[in-house]
Amino acid sequence: MTEPKIPHLASAALQSVMQEMKAQDLKWGADRDQDLADWLLILTEEAGELAEAVLHIKFGGEKKYGLRTEAVQVAAVALQIIEYIDRNDIMESINEY
Ligand SMILES: [Mg+2]
Repeated sequence: MTEPKIPHLASAALQSVMQEMKAQDLKWGADRDQDLADWLLILTEEAGELAEAVLHIKFGGEKKYGLRTEAVQVAAVALQIIEYIDRNDIMESINEY
């Protein structure tokens, strides 16, 4: 079993994701409780932009420069979804069925 060279909590990656979440909160409002399907649409849109960056790395194109930014945005939206799930006790409501 290996340990990361830099602990996840101290990584530049996590710092970037948290900064992006803060920017998203400022832009769209914190604690936005939209439908899960809407969250998934947003995540899918961001994943599409990440795919476009990867495609441009592979075949050429200016979007390649956005690779890290798009990866950060995917992670930030995914974390927003987890916070939404926790904030609204969605797992508990599912487990009641
Ligand atoms: Mg994006």
